[in-house]
Amino acid sequence: MTVTTKEIQKNYINGKWEESKTGLSMESINPSTGEVVGRSQKSGLDDITYAIDSASAAFKQEDWGYHSLKRADGLMKWAMRLEEKKEEIARILTLENGKTIKESRIEISACIDTLKYFSGMARSLFGRSINLSETSYGIIDKSPIGVVAIISPWNWPALLMIREAAPALAAGNAVILKPASRTPLTSLAMVKCLEGIQEFPNGIVNLVSGPGALIGDELTVNGKVDAISFTGDTVTGKALMKKAADKVKKLALELGGKSPNILFADADLNKAIPTITNSIFITAGQMCFAGTRVIVHESIQEEVIAQLKEEAEKLVVGNGLDEKTDMGPVISESQLNEIIEYIEIGKKDAELITGGYRLTGGEYDKGYFIAPTIFNNVPMESRVAQEEIFGPVLAVQGFKDEKEAIALANGTIFGLAAGVWTKDINKAIRVSKKVDAGTVWINTYNKNYPQTEFGGYKESGLGRTRGIEGLMEYTETKHINIDFEE
Ligand code: NAD
Repeated sequence: MTVTTKEIQKNYINGKWEESKTGLSMESINPSTGEVVGRSQKSGLDDITYAIDSASAAFKQEDWGYHSLKRADGLMKWAMRLEEKKEEIARILTLENGKTIKESRIEISACIDTLKYFSGMARSLFGRSINLSETSYGIIDKSPIGVVAIISPWNWPALLMIREAAPALAAGNAVILKPASRTPLTSLAMVKCLEGIQEFPNGIVNLVSGPGALIGDELTVNGKVDAISFTGDTVTGKALMKKAADKVKKLALELGGKSPNILFADADLNKAIPTITNSIFITAGQMCFAGTRVIVHESIQEEVIAQLKEEAEKLVVGNGLDEKTDMGPVISESQLNEIIEYIEIGKKDAELITGGYRLTGGEYDKGYFIAPTIFNNVPMESRVAQEEIFGPVLAVQGFKDEKEAIALANGTIFGLAAGVWTKDINKAIRVSKKVDAGTVWINTYNKNYPQTEFGGYKESGLGRTRGIEGLMEYTETKHINIDFEE
């Protein structure tokens, strides 16, 4: 499990650790220090087709898809192994991604919880039955799809991989994991924990690291891959959807967001302000459902701005390994430059309240740190209000009445999540029903459970992950019709 900078981590294919046929490797860089954390395979087409063939053969052997108890036991054992290695993997995650060690622990704990939940669900893959006439009866059968490719991003690399792998495996599929090129070491450390668990037949779980444009693309077009679960940028998701259309592949897409917190005049600010601050500055704003916009009633806008500023300025920004750090760096120099571009747009379009610059001096010079940034009175047409910045930048917008609040909340191409803050339960429900979002939190934010569905309205995605619907995403439905006429 130990990650060293010398050893090049191998792919996991057909139950064995394999070097890439390309002979090439990729470096994982610590965004806090710029140092090389470790290396992994920069795989090519030969590697990914070998993994696809192995997964396809393993699935066809039928000793996985038909054995729900075996799947339940395998997933539970994987969870137990992760439990033992939790701290070690959390450290790798912080080194590779930059996020705080506190957050990494939360992420790995959520992986364990997800595996445990889907271990139980493996035994509950129910279909239905229906009387169709006096002599006809229908069975609505649920079965695995086959080979599922799971393509994941770098921001929550452990959980977003497990969030899809656990239900796909619980439903009886074979999986090929394609981690993001910036964070393969975390994914590899997770997969190392299932090595030797007898319940997983060789080839049922495979992991191949390498460039998305090459091996991710092959997973999209290869006819032996039956379904794709993609979590990532909306632009990449759309391109993948077009390519996958050629073979009419099953697709689950978890894409970007621009999620609002709507604050009514009667909101409990003592709870709302720290929760909202956390919702945007967690993972340095690099989270799909980060609370990137605050839509606040104009009667409390000034007070809210003052409190958000105070809260943001209290955050300790630094190396994620330091237990005192509240916010780490952004993932890379290119990501930093993109965020700074948005900040410059914000300075022109809106009123800068705090932050608005790269942090420099001392240890900051080695990494990619940005001060928590807040803009007030951001016009709806500004790119800062419309586009996913994926950085620690909060846009505040005022509203006069409920109708305007809903219009602002729904005024982007995204629809991933939202927060509604009010003591009036009628208003809370009314607004929640009208907001275009796959998740609405009332008087809270960022509460996630493996048993509750998650996903996007509009361009935030297709399908649902987690919960019963998340499991069903990885099944085929078959009507078996029985005629019992004498
Ligand atoms: P990305 O789209 O650049 O990459 C995601 C994955 O796709 C990576 O593994 C990458 O290698 C692969 N990929 C790249 N090009 C590909 C191609 N042509 N074919 C197939 N695969 C390809 O996204 P990212 O920068 O890693 O992640 C950030 C994005 O992910 C943000 O937009 C964020 O909102 C989104 N996200 C969504 C959710 C969600 O649950 N909705 C969760 C986390 C992140």
